[in-house]
Amino acid sequence: GLNVFEYAVPMAAFPTHFEDSRRSSAQLFSVMGNQKEVKKRVSAVLQDEPMDVEVRNLSFAYGNRNVLDDVSVTFSAGSKTAIVGPSGSGKSTLFQLLVKLYEPTSGTISINQEFLTNVEQEDLWSYTNVVMQENHFFYGTVRDNLLLANDNASDIELKAALQAVELHAYELDDRILEKGENLSGGERQKLAMARAFLKKGRIWLLDEPFSSMDLLTEQKVIAELTQKAKDATLIFISHRLAGLERMDQIIVMDEGRVVEVGSFSELMSKKGYFYHLKQVEKSILFS
Ligand code: ATP
Repeated sequence: GLNVFEYAVPMAAFPTHFEDSRRSSAQLFSVMGNQKEVKKRVSAVLQDEPMDVEVRNLSFAYGNRNVLDDVSVTFSAGSKTAIVGPSGSGKSTLFQLLVKLYEPTSGTISINQEFLTNVEQEDLWSYTNVVMQENHFFYGTVRDNLLLANDNASDIELKAALQAVELHAYELDDRILEKGENLSGGERQKLAMARAFLKKGRIWLLDEPFSSMDLLTEQKVIAELTQKAKDATLIFISHRLAGLERMDQIIVMDEGRVVEVGSFSELMSKKGYFYHLKQVEKSILFS
C-alpha cells in the first residue's frame, strides 16, 4: 500500500506551514464554538499515561474487495506488539485504520474506551508517534523538518536525535528537498525515526520503519526505540521475524485475518503459522 501513504499522508497528517496557519484558525473557531470539547481534548493530551487500543470485529474493503475480515485484537496500555504476515495480508491497511487515514467498513477501534470515529485525526496524531513507510518531508532545513514533531525542541535535542539514528552526515541547516528527494530511502526512514524520537507519544505506530536501514543502524535504532517508547503503547509492523522475542505480543495476519496471537515463545511452541514462517525465513537466509 505504498501509494496510499504517499498521497494520503502529506495532506492529512503533517501540515505544511501554510496549512499550519489554517489549522490554527480552525482550532480557534473550535475553541470559540465548543469550550468543553476542547478542554476535554487538552486534558487527554496532557496526561502522559500510555493508552489502550481495542480493535473489535474490524472489516475493511477497497471498493468491493475485502482486505480486512473481522479483525479483533487488543493492544493493552504500555504493551509492545509486532504485526507480521505475508505481503498483502492487510497489515498496512490495519495500520491506516489505526491512524485514521481510513474509516472501517464495519467494526470499531477504540482508544481508552473512546471510539476512534469520535476522535479528530489531528488529536489522535497529537499524542501518537506515527512513522509510515513513506513519510512527509517538505522543502526546508533538516531543523525545520524535525521541528514538525516538536517545535519546542532545542538544537541540542535535534542533534541528539540525528545521532540516535546515525545520521552523522547531516547538519541542522542542511536543505531537504520536497518529499526528501535528495535523501536515500534509508535516510528518509532515519529522519522519520529521528523526528519520532523528539516527541513523547502515548502510542507509537510504526509501519516497517527499518526496512531500508542497514542492519547495524536498525539494531541501534531499535535499542533507542525500546528506551524512548518504554512507557508507551507500541505497535509496529515488521517484515522481518528477527528480534521479536522482546515483544509482549505478536499478531500474525494472513489474507486479511488474524491467524495467531501470542508471545514469541508461545507461537514457537505452538508450531503453527508463525513457526512455519520462521522456518521459511531461516531456510531463505541460510540457503
Ligand atoms: P506489505 O507487507 O506488502 O506492505 P500488507 O500486509 O501491508 O502488505 P496491505 O498493504 O494492507 O498489505 O494490502 C492488503 C491488500 O489490499 C492487498 O491485496 C493490496 O493489493 C490491497 N490494497 C492496498 N491498498 C489498496 C488500495 N489503495 N486500493 C485497492 N487495494 C489496495
